[in-house]
Amino acid sequence: MRASRFTVSVPLPDTDDTFLFNSLTDTQIVVSSDVIGLMARVEADEDVHLDPRSREAVTQLAELGFLVESREAEDHALEAFFRDLREDASHLRVTLLTTLQCNFACDYCIQGDHASHDSAGARMSLEHAARVGDWMEHRLDALGSPRFTLTFFGGEPLLNLPVVYLLAERMWTACRARGVAMNISIITNGLLLTEEVVDRLLPWGLTGVKITLDGDKVTHDRLRPLRGGQGTFDRILANMRAVAPKVRLSIGGNFDVESAASYPALLALLRQEPFADRISKIAFKPIIRGPNTGRPVSAPVRTLADGRRMIPLTPAQAPEAALGGTCMTAAGNGGGRTPCDTCGLVDTRMAWLRAETRASGFETLDGLHMGPCELHRRHSYTVGPEGSLYPCPGFTGEATTRVGHVDPARDVAHHAVRDRFETHAPWRACGDCALVPVCGGGCSVAAHNEQGDLAAPSCHRPGMLAALDDIAAAAATVPA
Ligand code: SF4
Ligand code: SF4
Repeated sequence: MRASRFTVSVPLPDTDDTFLFNSLTDTQIVVSSDVIGLMARVEADEDVHLDPRSREAVTQLAELGFLVESREAEDHALEAFFRDLREDASHLRVTLLTTLQCNFACDYCIQGDHASHDSAGARMSLEHAARVGDWMEHRLDALGSPRFTLTFFGGEPLLNLPVVYLLAERMWTACRARGVAMNISIITNGLLLTEEVVDRLLPWGLTGVKITLDGDKVTHDRLRPLRGGQGTFDRILANMRAVAPKVRLSIGGNFDVESAASYPALLALLRQEPFADRISKIAFKPIIRGPNTGRPVSAPVRTLADGRRMIPLTPAQAPEAALGGTCMTAAGNGGGRTPCDTCGLVDTRMAWLRAETRASGFETLDGLHMGPCELHRRHSYTVGPEGSLYPCPGFTGEATTRVGHVDPARDVAHHAVRDRFETHAPWRACGDCALVPVCGGGCSVAAHNEQGDLAAPSCHRPGMLAALDDIAAAAATVPA
């Protein structure tokens, strides 16, 4: 037997105990130095004589994945892990972009389609929506999935309510007829989130709404103004107060070097709100910049004309570029292998923001389980406003990454790209990294934007290991 290569050990201070985490079995234990010694003995000599108690401990360690038969057996187990994830048909997930239009004008985002906010091309028509409905029903029948999640995203999805209502009702009826459990979620800027919208969608399976707040009122209003420049914070908060009794809310936030400092004030304000206990999670992600933005990679921060400093996400003036960090999954990078020199900021600030969030009594990401993201799931689809299929929400609008179309006649043109994503596995370039099963090689949109190579890993290992240290420290305080 040998020690699993997916185990990370964290010695616990002021004791001879060690925290062990196995990323393939997702198991955490605290063991004494005797157990560490036992594992070393077993690895060094397969035939070592063990007393009954030690043999029992070895059996347990093997069951938990800390001891494995061989390197080859573990390689097979890793391949099976990613294959099962990819082929899992038990849950059909569709993220639907009802429009790429947006009523906000965030500096760091192309979703606003700044140059042509009112263009019709980026908005799903009812005719297209009917085709998307046909395609989703066909997928349900082909896969036989017992569970279906429909996520409305954008742009700002609530700018196209007719499509939202049409598809929500149609898919609820279709799922009822097939005995499929369905739920709806919405990712919105919150400005148009009224009680009327929520009341209409609740009977069709609405279970959650994710709203973006980029800091306290001053910071949020600066980063996420209306297209006319007016602030949006107060209206969003009023909307949250109105709908919170009816639906669970979660909050996402984007941060850069300066806005991160305003999060404690936002958290304190949210804690005082009557709906604080209706917030299921608060999570943040960094605003990413990179060479595909056409901006110099040597400058960590862009200085705007009015003196404000910004790390751009993707260029507002290039609608064909990927959306980058619009994804609901935390994304970022770290380590020395990428051209992005904001890694240190990201890792440090992420840990700090998580700690602040927990200290305010809110749930947040643990910072360790950062993947594998939905890009690794074949039956997780992103549908653009005109029916194009993308590998994940972060690639929406990037023509070269379309993997299909809801219209079979137009689908065939994308088979070559689809085949490329079938074998997409950036983690294969990660060598013996023990975090592969909880990372998957990082965010491929970040790799695409920052390195110009979506097949490359986008590593934020230092941040993940720092998060593991926090988890180990918390485990050390749990009474035995
Ligand atoms: S590649 Fe993964 S983490 Fe990155 S935007 Fe897509 S789904 Fe999110
Ligand atoms: S991207 Fe980094 S942390 Fe993730 S598996 Fe690869 S080397 Fe490990």
